[in-house]
Amino acid sequence: MLKIGITGGIGSGKTTVAKLFAVLGVPVYNADTEAKKIMVSNLKVKTLIKNLLGDASYHRNGKPNRAYISSKIFNDKELLTAINNIVHPAVHTDTEQWADHYRKEGKTPYVLREAALLVENGSYKSLDKLIVVTCPEPERIIRVMKRDKLNKEEVTQKIQNQLPESEKVKVADFVIINDGQHPLIPQVWKLHQILINI
Ligand code: ADP
Repeated sequence: MLKIGITGGIGSGKTTVAKLFAVLGVPVYNADTEAKKIMVSNLKVKTLIKNLLGDASYHRNGKPNRAYISSKIFNDKELLTAINNIVHPAVHTDTEQWADHYRKEGKTPYVLREAALLVENGSYKSLDKLIVVTCPEPERIIRVMKRDKLNKEEVTQKIQNQLPESEKVKVADFVIINDGQHPLIPQVWKLHQILINI
């Protein structure tokens, strides 16, 4: 069973594309969603975050105080790195266990790991193949402004904090163009045929 990564810049459409693979029956692990769950359920992660940012990082009901955490790590790259160093290994362990389950079951030729950061942190190297979803920046800005109710400057800032799309494409095994001109379904279908026959 192959482990395939799918990534792309914010607003490129990686979640949208991953959902199309899921429709074809491919198990998809969304690293960002699972990271949020792990911040609630993993006691070790919770303790380390509280030690790093203070008890106010969590509400009394055990849920993370996202506004507080964001205010702490906003514009503080060292703290952002520190929190990533707590959450990412836990997500990595979780995704490996998740993939093992499907490997043992032996029913699927590949699983998909969707994450915003796969190239930036080198974790794509532990995957068998990497798909990068691309979309021109002006279109990504429009999509994210609409999706996240942000202004142009806020979205541009987020894009600038990420590795440029061209760098991701350099290490991609497959590229899916999601510019609104190239239909997605035939691209996903064609790639699925390749991946089930590797
Ligand atoms: P990402 O996960 O890469 O941040 P999403 O899949 O969430 O991107 O897509 C960003 C936004 O753009 C979403 O609101 C999504 O519905 C929309 N979107 C994605 N692909 C297209 C497309 N081909 N045409 C129009 N809107 C799209």
